[in-house]
Amino acid sequence: MKPSGLNTLCVHAAHTPDPTSGAIAEPIVLATTFERDADGGYPRGYRYSREGTPNRTVLESCLASLEGGVGAVAFASGLAANMAVLELLGAGERLVASREAYYGSVRQFVEVARQRGAVLELVDFADPASVKAALAQRTRLVWVETPSNPLLNVTDLELAASLSHAAGALVVCDNTFATPVCQRPFRFGADLVIHSGTKYLGGHSDVLSGAVVVREDAALLERLQAWQRMAGTGLAPFDCWLLRRSIATLALRVRAQCQGALEVARFLAAHPAVERVFYPGLESHPGHAIARAQMPGGFGAVLSVCIAGDAARAMQVAGRTRLLTRATSLGGVESLIEHRASVEGPGSRTPQNLLRLSIGIEEPQDLVEDLRQALG
Ligand code: PLP
Repeated sequence: MKPSGLNTLCVHAAHTPDPTSGAIAEPIVLATTFERDADGGYPRGYRYSREGTPNRTVLESCLASLEGGVGAVAFASGLAANMAVLELLGAGERLVASREAYYGSVRQFVEVARQRGAVLELVDFADPASVKAALAQRTRLVWVETPSNPLLNVTDLELAASLSHAAGALVVCDNTFATPVCQRPFRFGADLVIHSGTKYLGGHSDVLSGAVVVREDAALLERLQAWQRMAGTGLAPFDCWLLRRSIATLALRVRAQCQGALEVARFLAAHPAVERVFYPGLESHPGHAIARAQMPGGFGAVLSVCIAGDAARAMQVAGRTRLLTRATSLGGVESLIEHRASVEGPGSRTPQNLLRLSIGIEEPQDLVEDLRQALG
């Protein structure tokens, strides 16, 4: 039976009781090496854990099912997953990427293009005219992050994919913020989906991880798998196990987090000490109509807010919260708040009075009350 509900898929995708013991929880196989047959073969498909290991097989199969792709490749971090995809970029080829993407990804784009003699064009993907102009030339890779980190810009995926394909490009969509619960990029034409599994897939701020999911191209999947083996950056068994375990509650968590984020965003948007709220779920967000169409499962649970005043005032507000913890990252069950520009460091394009909030699974009203007292 093919499961139709997302919660069903989260619990059951690539998961059955262990055939040897009947254990309901997946066993963790820490072995780095696997027995050969008398004739030298590998009848169970495993040889050495850098190349493949049972917990990684389960996780990758689960991720492919969740996104609706042919296969997935799991890495030791989100940035390691990015690097596997950036390997596809050859000398002289073009990479068109979102200027507002996660600053760590943008750093990779700049450095990889420089080292490889490739051409990088950073554009504002919320502006279709800029995307059209950038894709008037033949391009190898188009990198979209929607919603983006930390400004929550929304890209029209269908439009970006059709322009990219006309330019001969593969479309990569970083789906970290939305997760497959809110947005399924393959439905809009993306060829590859990227995740920092460290965020919602892990969901408990305790496992660094990343993944690339391939929509349909088996040769592309094999190339990424070969890179994972060659670079030795595959995710370790215990981390795979943690991630697969967390995915069982992914839809439950993310739906609750989206609901909480919407309540917090509405409260902040109406508060006089707040200059601006960035959240695609608010009708006032410039990308709201697109988000409604391409994020049927919710608008995500990260929001940013410009506090009326300067960096010191924003720091003061973050310094007063009691439930929201001051820390970077996002996607965990606990709510976090951070002064983003000081995390990104010198050269950051993020406004100095911006705080980024990751909403967890606490009661939204408790978070609202915490923010009310912090705003003073
Ligand atoms: N993509 C996005 C949207 C992110 O926010 C991050 C990290 O914050 C990454 C990729 C990188 O992931 P990792 O920190 O797991 O390397």
